[in-house]
Amino acid sequence: MSSSKRNGNSTTGSRPNAQNIKKILLKKRIIEIFYKEGLKTIAELCETTNNSVPSITNIMNEMNREGWVNNFGIGESKGGRKPAIYGLNPRAGLIAAIDLSRKDSRIGVFNLHNEQVSDILEINDGLDTTDNILSILKKEMENLWKKNSIQKKEILGLGVTIPGLIDIKKGVSYSYPIFGNKPLKEVFGKQFGLPSTIEHDTKAMAVGESWFGLARDKSDVLFINIGSGIGLGIIINGKLYQGHSGFSGEFGHIQMDPDGHLCYCGKIGCLETIASGTALVKKARQMIREGKNSIISAKVDNKLEAIKLKTIVEAANQGDLFAIELIEEAGEYLAKGMSILIHLFNPEAIIIGGEMSEAGNLVTDPVQQKLNKYTMLRLKQDTTVLVSDLKEAAGLYGTLPIVVDSMLSRYFGNGAHGLNNGSEPHNGAS
Ligand SMILES: [Zn+2]
Repeated sequence: MSSSKRNGNSTTGSRPNAQNIKKILLKKRIIEIFYKEGLKTIAELCETTNNSVPSITNIMNEMNREGWVNNFGIGESKGGRKPAIYGLNPRAGLIAAIDLSRKDSRIGVFNLHNEQVSDILEINDGLDTTDNILSILKKEMENLWKKNSIQKKEILGLGVTIPGLIDIKKGVSYSYPIFGNKPLKEVFGKQFGLPSTIEHDTKAMAVGESWFGLARDKSDVLFINIGSGIGLGIIINGKLYQGHSGFSGEFGHIQMDPDGHLCYCGKIGCLETIASGTALVKKARQMIREGKNSIISAKVDNKLEAIKLKTIVEAANQGDLFAIELIEEAGEYLAKGMSILIHLFNPEAIIIGGEMSEAGNLVTDPVQQKLNKYTMLRLKQDTTVLVSDLKEAAGLYGTLPIVVDSMLSRYFGNGAHGLNNGSEPHNGAS
């Protein structure tokens, strides 16, 4: 589909008038409905958008010619003629996604049905391992396109997740000086030659859970990302909560131990210094060095520097007592922190995601047990603790509605609606 055809205004003449604007907004609304809810009949669209059958039929024909909409066959009759079913053309545009972490990263390409059109590629480089992460990502992304016969012109936009502090108003990273003082969307936009949107990693994962994961049908959910650090994504009334400056969810930096270790943030005894992947790895190395017996040593050929959170979780899943105890102890402190969150937010569910999610019950059992100790019974009873089933892919999935929202604003202007899962792209493509 050519870019001129994609323009919401393409078939309605160049001079916008009230009727044209109404039509453009209706097209945008219909794309949002299809994207969020899947296939629909004309009757269903009439009801949701409060329009007549002839006008929706006309719009469907027009959007079909433009390449946005496909006819997906005939549905079940509810009495009378069987209705035609419409939905988004999955190839109307593709979304490239990058989930950039400190030590590694993941990339993938998806269609407008949120289906993978490429493998999800894991790259063993991240923000902390190289100064050339941007060019590495570009090269790997272009290879991925080539391998899957994807043309760059098919890509509607690039969604990127990154860790650390991101200023919601300026769109700059306060944690990674390699990006300079420039808005991240400009840095990535220039590097890839694509409209780019940026979201904080844990927040993107929370959006992923909210659209595609265990938080899908829930409106008040907390998502805890446990990897090298500990982050929190807050979904309130079905929307992502950003906070005044975009810094909400720095759960890992609340103090747990006033006499504890120095955290990289400059404070003492943060939750991250006790229960994060980095803390667990540090402790495992130290205790094994001091003679602790564990299959972890064999897993890394006694090269203790090679221990990662993944190694510990794998060992625990194989029944290694030391690894299980490490996770159990982290669980106790996590529960202490989570009890504060439960008292403050009264969430329907807390989802544990990130690398730690691979530990499953080994992390949720001790958490559940200790929540009994720290949380008021009534509140505890109303909160379920779950382990993410999207696991590490949550971040990539979370970028998709954010990119689509930004693309819709670009092609159709800022209407009254918006996908509005709180996934408002705060520094989305302009
Ligand atoms: Zn800290």
